[in-house]
Amino acid sequence: MKVCIVGGGSSGWMTATTFRKKLDYEVTLIESPNVPISGVGESTLQHFQRWIDFVGIREDEDEFIKETSGTIKHAIKFTNFLEKNSGSFYYPFGLSPKDPNGWWSEQLRTGRLHHNEYAQNINHVALIAARGKVDLNSDYAYHFDAIKYGQFLKRKYCQKVEHIRANVVNYVTKDRTNFYSLVLDDGSEVEADLFIDCTGFAAKLIGEFVEEPFVSFDHVLFNDSAWTTHIPYKDKAKELTSVTECTAIENGWVWNIPLWDNVGTGYVYSSKHISKEDAKQQFINHIGTDEVEFKHIPMRIGRHENTWVSNVVAIGLSAGFVEPLESNGLIMVHDNLIKLAKTLRRGPASQLLKEMYNADVRRDFDQTADFIAIHYAFTQRKDTPYWKDCFNRSYDLNQFWHYGMRAYSREMHLSNMYTHPESGFHYVASGMNICPLTEPIHDYVDHVGEWEAAVKQLPTGYEYFTSKYQKE
Ligand SMILES: Cc1cc2nc3c(=O)[nH]c(=O)nc-3n(C[C@H](O)[C@H](O)[C@H](O)COP(=O)(O)OP(=O)(O)OC[C@H]3O[C@@H](n4cnc5c(N)ncnc54)[C@H](O)[C@@H]3O)c2cc1C
Repeated sequence: MKVCIVGGGSSGWMTATTFRKKLDYEVTLIESPNVPISGVGESTLQHFQRWIDFVGIREDEDEFIKETSGTIKHAIKFTNFLEKNSGSFYYPFGLSPKDPNGWWSEQLRTGRLHHNEYAQNINHVALIAARGKVDLNSDYAYHFDAIKYGQFLKRKYCQKVEHIRANVVNYVTKDRTNFYSLVLDDGSEVEADLFIDCTGFAAKLIGEFVEEPFVSFDHVLFNDSAWTTHIPYKDKAKELTSVTECTAIENGWVWNIPLWDNVGTGYVYSSKHISKEDAKQQFINHIGTDEVEFKHIPMRIGRHENTWVSNVVAIGLSAGFVEPLESNGLIMVHDNLIKLAKTLRRGPASQLLKEMYNADVRRDFDQTADFIAIHYAFTQRKDTPYWKDCFNRSYDLNQFWHYGMRAYSREMHLSNMYTHPESGFHYVASGMNICPLTEPIHDYVDHVGEWEAAVKQLPTGYEYFTSKYQKE
């Protein structure tokens, strides 16, 4: 069997790696010589480990971290999403407590716990992150340079991949449904049994050729653009933390990702609320320098109705994108790759298997969009028209019920949503000072003193990396 992947961004090389390591396919990857890759996607989630184990590259972790300017991530830190100066709360990796309601009732009873301290009180990983420490025996993910990441995958796992530098300009069908070959700008054709669209927001195959309908998420999300750059460290020993920082500002939020070489940063904003140039100025004001190279990225927010049609599958930004809050882009790529590889394990997929795959991908995108929306829907900010609109808009409860509605109903507890171990919902809801309406099952048990003592023994991010991986 032969697979043809179009696109040489991180989703293209992750797809090539998956097909080389897990399926017995001949792989060709076509990459445009003149359309640059997005070059973003530097903060991952813990689920990234699932893909690493699935494709079997765990033993290369040290090499991967060294070569990609990698660092360790334990949590996401959200600042000023509740109020303009409301401070920060954490969403850490790792298992959640069985009964967060116990914590809330203790808070209400004694008043001694602050909602910004929720995560540090119920999950020791949040405490590690809050103290700037690193512990590979606790749950973690990675920060890395997105361009170096693609290059690493290519060098290490894709030696047998045929790599063609050309633009795909057309296609030939076999039986009016399945693709037979892709036509390149030099007139040549590339034949395959399966075609994977990794062309980013261009969605060349699934959008332009197949014309699969696109479903926008603008019923729950405003942000559709980003300014991005990298800035040098001022004080690396302090700034190299184990968190991705997300700071809400006038018309969206700014990410801060500590890599080994520098800090990745970007302003995600709503073009309905501010012009491109004014947004750039707000970003410059926030990071405090204009002496760096800036890149502007318009984002296509939504998903295709089906991402597997006939013998074309879209993976990565071509399939859909929610917006980068909660680092949800790459998780969608590797989750879909795991699903795809499992589906193809016994040979070509029947129509039913494709429909099951499509239903699963749709649900993942839609639930992620709802989850991201709660960060705006639960705000109390009204200091700019953008935040007023986030506060006042309707979030379409039909779509939003997975997360939003449960915050105000008893269902939240009964359905287990609030305590579901894999759901980060309770970290965000609690950080936004949303109080569950149900009574606790167990009393709150305070472990913080114990955890603080253990965390004190751990190295900081900077200490860990200078001793284990990198030399200054
Ligand atoms: C602003 C922003 C921030 C993000 N931050 C995060 C994050 O922190 N964490 C996270 O998990 N995810 C994040 N993401 C998502 C993440 O960046 C993407 O999931 C990831 O980069 C995959 O991109 P891609 O490979 O699909 O597309 P791209 O990187 O855009 O690559 C597209 C490829 O297709 C090629 N191409 C296009 N047209 C043609 C053609 N006609 N013929 C041949 N080749 C073609 C291009 O040359 C390129 O090689 C972010 C996304 C954005 C937009």
